[in-house]
Amino acid sequence: MYSAFSWNICRMRLCRQIGLVADLQIGLSCPWDCHVYGIRAPGGIVLIDAGSGMATDALLHNLREDLGTAEITAVVLTHAHPDHACGVAPLLDRYGCQVWAPAPCREVLEQGDEDRSGLAKARRRGAYPMEMRMRPSLVHHSIEHGEIFEVAGLRFEALHVSGHSPDSFCYLTELECGRSLFVGDVLFYGGVLGLINAEGSSLDGYRSHLERLKGLGVDCLFPGHGLFTFRNGQLHIDTAIRELERGFVPRMIGQHDLIF
Ligand SMILES: [Zn+2]
Repeated sequence: MYSAFSWNICRMRLCRQIGLVADLQIGLSCPWDCHVYGIRAPGGIVLIDAGSGMATDALLHNLREDLGTAEITAVVLTHAHPDHACGVAPLLDRYGCQVWAPAPCREVLEQGDEDRSGLAKARRRGAYPMEMRMRPSLVHHSIEHGEIFEVAGLRFEALHVSGHSPDSFCYLTELECGRSLFVGDVLFYGGVLGLINAEGSSLDGYRSHLERLKGLGVDCLFPGHGLFTFRNGQLHIDTAIRELERGFVPRMIGQHDLIF
């Protein structure tokens, strides 16, 4: 497992209720993790995404530092890409937490399918280390588009927005900091789309589904990488929607860029 993590780097508590407990840019965990958000919910800790599984000890350390406990009640996944989902199995080894995942990625997770998650190919081209694995993990609840579900006392509305990947879901919830949308890799700060040169990523997906994020009145936008914001979150979403509606391709991740 990854060993360069500095135990001095901790405390990325974003507000009273949320801690950023893993990431690839700031150095909270390891270079293969997405942003993992820990939320203090009435019924325990809810994680949004699980990271790569390469620095789970660091993630748990940060969770303890930020929110006072690492007793995870549930993990809610945005999609099955390796930097978001390979960490599920190591977390399940430690906690009896419930796993919530979009219905389209259930099979990939339960089979630990390294081809369909993109891990095998990404590992071959050197994007991930050879020892990184996607072990099969139980999915307790699969989530459908439009479903409203409750996890540890938090109510989420699920929105399926393909484009970055066919299985990408966003989750809308009311937190102490405001109306919050966890978008995974669908969209980033500034209205940048998560369109990538990988199997399953498609502008068609965005054309079909991005408008599902219209008019949500989002205050806080929490993407899977890069900058997040506590104000005017909807502005970032609307920027991308407007470009698509005008017949243009919005800015895409990977150009100039803000996430690596
Ligand atoms: Zn992704």
